[in-house]
Amino acid sequence: MRKSSLQWTIEVNSGRHVHAQRFTIAHELGHHVMGHDSCGSMDLQERQANVFAAELLIPLALLRNALKKVRRLGALSQLFFVSKEAMQYKLNEHGLLLTLSGFD
Ligand SMILES: [Zn+2]
Repeated sequence: MRKSSLQWTIEVNSGRHVHAQRFTIAHELGHHVMGHDSCGSMDLQERQANVFAAELLIPLALLRNALKKVRRLGALSQLFFVSKEAMQYKLNEHGLLLTLSGFD
């Protein structure tokens, strides 16, 4: 994320998987919304931006609802159009990892 005189710009590597691109954009939006100066400057701010991104892409209420029917990491990831890593992060953040029946 970088700022010019009038606007902020989020740059995304188009060669990365679309799930990674979505998470990167959500992460950078998190920095902007929370008023952080830049990405990568402080561990706390990085964690805050990751939590923001995870909630934006995987709203907890929708995740809890989905978990009533879907219990496999891969299927949940596809449902929310995120990587397995992002889904695992979200589930772990909310103590829901053990609700899974499989990681494929
Ligand atoms: Zn960051």
